[in-house]
Amino acid sequence: MKKILITWWAWFIWSHLCKRLLDEWNEVICLDNLFTGNKSNIYELEKNPKFTFILHDITQPFWAQVDEIYNLACPASPVHYQKNPVETIKTSLLGAINMLELATKVKAKILQSSTSEVYGDPNIHPQPESYRWNVNIIWPRSCYDEWKRASETLFMDYYREFETKIKIIRIFNTYGPNMNPEDWRVISNFIMQALRNQNITIYWDWLQTRSFQYIDDLINGMVAMMENTNWFIWPVNIWTEFEFSMKELAELVLKLIPESTSKIIYEDLPIDDPKQRRADNRLAKEKLWWEPKIWLEEGLVKTIEYFRKFI
Ligand code: UDP
Repeated sequence: MKKILITWWAWFIWSHLCKRLLDEWNEVICLDNLFTGNKSNIYELEKNPKFTFILHDITQPFWAQVDEIYNLACPASPVHYQKNPVETIKTSLLGAINMLELATKVKAKILQSSTSEVYGDPNIHPQPESYRWNVNIIWPRSCYDEWKRASETLFMDYYREFETKIKIIRIFNTYGPNMNPEDWRVISNFIMQALRNQNITIYWDWLQTRSFQYIDDLINGMVAMMENTNWFIWPVNIWTEFEFSMKELAELVLKLIPESTSKIIYEDLPIDDPKQRRADNRLAKEKLWWEPKIWLEEGLVKTIEYFRKFI
C-alpha cells in the first residue's frame, strides 16, 4: 500500500484517478482549492477511510510524508483559464515548485500532467515529443501553454539539480463520465447541446481536428508512467492517434442521440485555437507498453449516458 497525493481542481480526471488508486488499496490524499470544481464527484470517495480531502491552494507550500505525487492542478478548459489567467499561471508555476519541493524533501516520485498545448498550433503533424512547438507567448492561450511549458522545464531542472524522481506526460483532449457540463469543452458542449435540442456550435469549419481520448485509456497511461521502473522520465504523449474534424464529431454525437432535433451551426474560431492535433504516440507504446483501447463511438455512448442526468 502506498500513500499518494493528488493535486486537482475537483472534477473529471482527478475523480477517476482517485478511484483507481483506492481500488488498488492505496491511501489517497487530495488537495484542491475548489476554484473551478466542487465536491460532488467525491461524495462517494469520502466514504472510503483511505481517502482524505484537504482544502488547500497549491500555490502555498504543503507537507505530508507520501510515496507518490500526481500533480494535476490547473484549470484546463480554454474558457476557464482565459477567464482567470493570472490564477492559472500561479497554479502552474508556484504549484509545480511547491510540489517539486515536497517530492524532493520526502523522496517521492512526482508525475506532472502536462498537455498537448505545449505544441501550440503545430506546424508538423502528427506531433512527436521531440517537436519544439509553435506557441504564441502573448495571446490569451499563453497563460496555459507557456506556463505548462515552464513547468516541464522546472521538472527537468529539479531532476538535474536535485535528482528528484520526476515523470512528465502530455495529455490531450480527454473525455468521459464526470466531465463538468459547464466546462465549455467541445465534447461536453456538443453532447449538452444535442440533449437540450440546441444548435451545435462548431467554431471555424470542417478542417479543424482533434484526437480524443477516453478517460480509462488516459488513467492506464498515467499509472503506467508512474509505475515504470526503467526510469524513463522524458515527456511522453499519452494520446490516441485517431483524428476527427469537429464536423465529424458533431455528426457522431447526433447519430448517438437520435431523438435530438439540434442543427449544426458555424461560429468564429477563438483566437489562437490550434487547427490540427494528433499525437505521435510511439514512445508511450514502446516505453510503457501502453496503447489506447476505447474507440470514440464506444466512449461517447458512456459519456452521453452520464450527461443525460443533467437534463
Ligand atoms: N469547439 C467547437 N465548439 C464548441 C467548443 C469547442 O467547435 O462548442 C472547438 C474549439 O474551437 C477547438 C476544439 O473544438 O478547436 C476543441 O476545443 P476544446 O475547448 O474542447 O479543447 P482544446 O483542444 O481547444 O483545448
